[in-house]
Amino acid sequence: MDVVTVSDLVVDRGRRRVLPGLSFAVPEGQVTGLLGPSGSGKSTLLRAIVGVQRIRSGTVTVLGHPAGSPALRDRVGYVTQSPSVYADLTVRENARYFAALYGRGAREADAAIADVGLGEAAGQLVGDLSGGQRGRASLACALVGEPEVLVLDEPTVGLDPVLRVELWERFSGLAAAGTTLLVSSHVMDEAARCDRLLLLRDGALLADTTPGRLRTDGRSDDLEEAFLNVVRASAQEMAR
Ligand code: ADP
Ligand code: MG
Repeated sequence: MDVVTVSDLVVDRGRRRVLPGLSFAVPEGQVTGLLGPSGSGKSTLLRAIVGVQRIRSGTVTVLGHPAGSPALRDRVGYVTQSPSVYADLTVRENARYFAALYGRGAREADAAIADVGLGEAAGQLVGDLSGGQRGRASLACALVGEPEVLVLDEPTVGLDPVLRVELWERFSGLAAAGTTLLVSSHVMDEAARCDRLLLLRDGALLADTTPGRLRTDGRSDDLEEAFLNVVRASAQEMAR
C-alpha cells in the first residue's frame, strides 16, 4: 500500500516555481530518503506532504486523505529543519507536553527521550542544549505520538557520526515495525541507509530508485559517485 501519493504537484514560493510538477508514491513501512542539494526543494516538498505548504496545483494524498486533513493530525509526525521545541522547558517537559497532545503518558515520553539518546539530558532546559541535542529533542517529541508516518527534514544535520548512525538504525527499526518514514538529507552517504531513494534536483525528480539500483545505474559502489554519473548521463541525454 502506498502511504503518500503525490501527483503533478506544482508549488510556487514567492515568484519562483520551486516544484514544477512532481509525481511519486511512498510505500508503507520503509525508509524513503529524499536526497538533494540545498535549495532543491526538499523542505518545500515535505511541507506539502504534511499540509502546511500552499500548492498551485496537483494532489498530495496521505493515508488516503488529502495532505493536512484533520484526520491525519495524530497519524503524521513532522520534524522541521529548525528544532520546534520550547527553549524554556526541559527536554522531559517538552516530551510530556507533546505526549499529552497525543494522548500518551510520562512513560512514552521517557521512552522517546531514551530512544534519541537524550536520557542524561532529560532534566536540562532545551535552550541550554547544543544544536544537535535540540534536533534530537524535536525528534523525541515527534516519536512520542507513535505516528504511522514520520516526516523528518534533515534530522541528522549537526550530529556527530556516531549519533547519526544510531539515529539511522532507529529509523530502520521503526520502519521494520511498520512506520513509514520520509527523511530528507543533503548528504549522499546517508542514502545507503534508505530502502528507497528520491533524488531531487531543482525541484524535479532525477531518480526514484534504491541504493542497489543507483549503484548499478551509476556504475559505482560509491553512492555519491553513482549519483553524479546518473546526473551527467541525464544531462547528456537532455543535450541530445
Ligand atoms: P531545500 O530544503 O532542498 O534546501 P527548499 O524547499 O527550502 O529547499 O527551497 C527550495 C527553493 O525555494 C529555494 O530556491 C528557496 O530559495 C526557495 N524558497 C524557500 N522558502 C521560500 C520562501 N519562503 N519564499 C520564497 N522562496 C523560498
Ligand atoms: Mg530544507
